[in-house]
Amino acid sequence: MRKHPLANCEECPLFEGTTYVPSESPERASLAIIGEAPGSHEVRQGRPFVGPPGQLLNIVLKHHSIDREDTFMGNAVSCRASDNSAPSKGAIACCRPRLISELKEVGVEIVIALGNSACESLLGQSTVTALRAGPGRYSDYLPGVRIIPTIHPSACMHAPDQFPHIVSDIAKVFVEPKPWVEPEYFIPADNDNAKLILANLIVSNLPFITIDIEIDIEKDDSFEVPSTYKMLCVGIGYMKNKVVILNADMMMDSRILAYLKQLLRRTKIVAQNGKFDLKGLYPILGKLELYGDTMLASYAFDERPGIHGLKYQAQEYLGAPKYDEEILKFVTPGTGYGAIPKDLLFTYNAI
Ligand code: URA
Repeated sequence: MRKHPLANCEECPLFEGTTYVPSESPERASLAIIGEAPGSHEVRQGRPFVGPPGQLLNIVLKHHSIDREDTFMGNAVSCRASDNSAPSKGAIACCRPRLISELKEVGVEIVIALGNSACESLLGQSTVTALRAGPGRYSDYLPGVRIIPTIHPSACMHAPDQFPHIVSDIAKVFVEPKPWVEPEYFIPADNDNAKLILANLIVSNLPFITIDIEIDIEKDDSFEVPSTYKMLCVGIGYMKNKVVILNADMMMDSRILAYLKQLLRRTKIVAQNGKFDLKGLYPILGKLELYGDTMLASYAFDERPGIHGLKYQAQEYLGAPKYDEEILKFVTPGTGYGAIPKDLLFTYNAI
């Protein structure tokens, strides 16, 4: 039997079942939450998200003071497969016109897409782990509507370390992360210009600077002493998204080092795993004090293991692309960062 006038039920692999569960919504709803398909509890009660994953979701909604009664609750497909398997792309496509029309009808502005099936339905892509990082997504299916992909609560019940993601992703309803902007960097034209720029930074009394050094080892995989390797460059972030990079030659000029030392002594230094970078600078600049370390700070945000590298954080919090893949092609066993073409190394350093 046809379940919904706008769904292509006759073509749907779930057509034969009797497990249709309608969406629930007030007449107008600016926020929608879309899951995969009704589960057994939902089919029994004829309502979406009433089983254990729905209860977990309720806890997160309550945490964010989101009232379920004001929210559109529905699924990528409205029927459940008899073997409880995830709906195929075909089934999702058959049910998509029904879902899109329902969402438009209530005037939705923001949609939380729970898991791969909801992402497939709303965005035409089903890799929620990649889609969820950074700001919201937009799709031709729902022009102008912000879609926030996150992990499905039932996935969190199997992998509880994913739970913090749902909590932080749903917070994006209220504060949208800014889109990623690649930083601009420049290399001073010559050593005199480098000195002048450092002198300017010294007198600018900046609230803090960020620094990152590149040396000729694969430092993220190594706990070696950085000062025993060739210094390739030092990047100094002096304003948001603005970086000046001192190249290897400049780092051998004692006049430049004298200015750099003054700058780093006078200005608060923030770095990612800064103990490593400062250790690389001690032999040439003497002892320096680290003011802030984004890696240590990230433990205060979220103490789960394996997520404190800069690349993870840039992707998770800033929506950065996987910017290290290109450089890693050049870093093979036996070669270090010295094998990376300079323009690529500098771009990486600036990021
Ligand atoms: N899981 C879903 O994806 N949808 C529901 O309605 C219930 C559980």
